[in-house]
Amino acid sequence: MAAALVARYPPDPMSERPLVLLSNDDGYASPGLRAMREALVGLGAEVVIVAPENEQSASSHSLSLHRPLRLRAVEPGVFALDGTPADCVYVALHATTRVLPRRPDLVVSGINHGMNLGQDAFYSGTVAAAREAALRGIPAVATSAHVAADLAPGAALSARVALALLEALPARGALLNVNVPRGWTGEVRATHLGARIYEEVVDFRRDPRGREYLWLGGPGVRHERAPGTDTDAYDDGAASITPLRLDLTDGAGHDVARAIADKARGSGS
Ligand code: MN
Repeated sequence: MAAALVARYPPDPMSERPLVLLSNDDGYASPGLRAMREALVGLGAEVVIVAPENEQSASSHSLSLHRPLRLRAVEPGVFALDGTPADCVYVALHATTRVLPRRPDLVVSGINHGMNLGQDAFYSGTVAAAREAALRGIPAVATSAHVAADLAPGAALSARVALALLEALPARGALLNVNVPRGWTGEVRATHLGARIYEEVVDFRRDPRGREYLWLGGPGVRHERAPGTDTDAYDDGAASITPLRLDLTDGAGHDVARAIADKARGSGS
């Protein structure tokens, strides 16, 4: 049984099985990443991992354009890159056949160690890795679980979501953000992004040599009830699936932009 879960590498480019590129922002050794690979392989996918050497949480969508990167083959089908999550996906997709035998059918990022709800989507390296693929027109799923959640059921759900996305033949660039709460009830909801209310703190301290340093961010976060949101689902013990858009344009703000453009243009034009 265990042998069936061992990924083959390199995958057969002629295989009918879906080819999944798997990454994360917690690093290649993360238990969440391994659980995700097992779940995807268990559903018949070919999986290749390209993940950061080290923890890159909250690195958002940064690309390392100003230093060389090292790609290390850890074991068959597992690569570690000393870069960001977005770097990992970029390298996997554009390194000809050095990493992947062909363009992947799907990109999965996670399972992240910790939730990515509401505006976390802006900061999350987990979401960014998936978004990097979605920007290239590849269906992508970012998945995160509460640090105290059971990984196996969360990974199984995420794998089912990922393969269902592939089956749904979505419009190019589909991007889903999945979250599995602690004490998941088994309920799954389609949601939109809620709002997380963090304790926002800049904590100034002094080092042993008398120089000031500071820490960003407080320990607490809370949500207000907002029906249909991922934060509400979380508070109810439900897993959430939020579709994310790539076009950030605010249609409703267009009138304001047009009025400002008219003013900014001045009388001379
Ligand atoms: Mn993380």
